[in-house]
Amino acid sequence: MKVIYLDHSATTYVKREVLNAMIPYFNIEYGNPSSMYSIGRSAKRALEHARAQVSRALNAQQSEIIFTSCGSESDNLAIKGFAYANKNKGNHIITSKIEHPAVLNTCKRLEEKGYRVTYLNCDENGFIDVNQLKKEINKDTILISIMMANNEIGTIQDVKQIGRIAHDNGIVFHTDAVQGVGNVKIDVNEMNIDMLSLSAHKFYGPKGIGALYVRDGINIERIQDGGHQEMNRRAGTENVAEIVGLGKAIELASFNIEEYNKHLLDLRQYFISEIKGKVKDIKINGSLEKRLSGNINISFKGKESSEILLGLDKRGICASGGSACSSGMNSPSHVLLAIGLNKEYINGTIRITLGEENTKQDIDYLIKSLEEILS
Ligand SMILES: *Cc1c(COP(=O)(O)O)cnc(C)c1O
Repeated sequence: MKVIYLDHSATTYVKREVLNAMIPYFNIEYGNPSSMYSIGRSAKRALEHARAQVSRALNAQQSEIIFTSCGSESDNLAIKGFAYANKNKGNHIITSKIEHPAVLNTCKRLEEKGYRVTYLNCDENGFIDVNQLKKEINKDTILISIMMANNEIGTIQDVKQIGRIAHDNGIVFHTDAVQGVGNVKIDVNEMNIDMLSLSAHKFYGPKGIGALYVRDGINIERIQDGGHQEMNRRAGTENVAEIVGLGKAIELASFNIEEYNKHLLDLRQYFISEIKGKVKDIKINGSLEKRLSGNINISFKGKESSEILLGLDKRGICASGGSACSSGMNSPSHVLLAIGLNKEYINGTIRITLGEENTKQDIDYLIKSLEEILS
């Protein structure tokens, strides 16, 4: 059976060009970038080339990019690293109720260690309450961490405005842009971003490699001790092959961003217009304007998402309920709760996230399958 993959916010396949770029660094150019001889030096060059690719994609400096093992590590390093290094300035952090667990659970850990965290509310479309943000800022606030785009409902926050509010109050602004990179054009200077997390496997790069942008002059404490790699900010021999893959993937994604968005948006609009005439009692969650082009978060009133997903899986269609990180658990999605979605809709919610290889035929097959499953 052909697999139709509609879960690109969980992960993506690795593009052929990305894989080809990586391969030599496993068994030919396998030197340690810290070694002084030739294959060490060429690994070091590859590392710095990838750093330049990442910095160009964000309009940052090379010295501002730290490679990590994943998006979750980048979030941990940004939030814990900043909180630990700046605890003499204050102990209050502001984030939102709809963050990824990599941010939420990092903040919960800091609460156990005596930091105070405010979790902002959001409206029914998933936008944080900017007035509440302004009200919650106090003299102890050192950090604001708000995600760029939500992994469940796709809402894209007004990061520039949030960063402006942070800077007007002398506060550092971190954004988890793991869903943003590859989908949203990013300029850390124009968007007032001081720290940004990204992960290659969300934009057709390999799993297990991420990066953190940290604006020059911002002090973070290392959370992993060891050697002096990554300008002393993250110990461990660099994962050269995957870093090369990350660099290639982010470069391809940035070249292609308009065309990619147009393709996904066309498919999304086609899906929405078709499903509306064929299935009753549905609700599309999240903003339809400021949203990841490939995200469709849809509720079927009174239905069970696990049954829908099982039916789709039987037909070779991969989709997700809520988010991959919480699937397997029965607790309702914290994001759907935060946008105030009614219980009879929450239980029947699935997430479809489109990607570059999807076609109109895939959407036709998806709709036909949903009609069968729901009838
Ligand atoms: C996937 C994801 C992460 C975690 O990234 P990993 O590389 O899987 O650790 C963090 N934040 C968001 C918004 C994500 O979608």
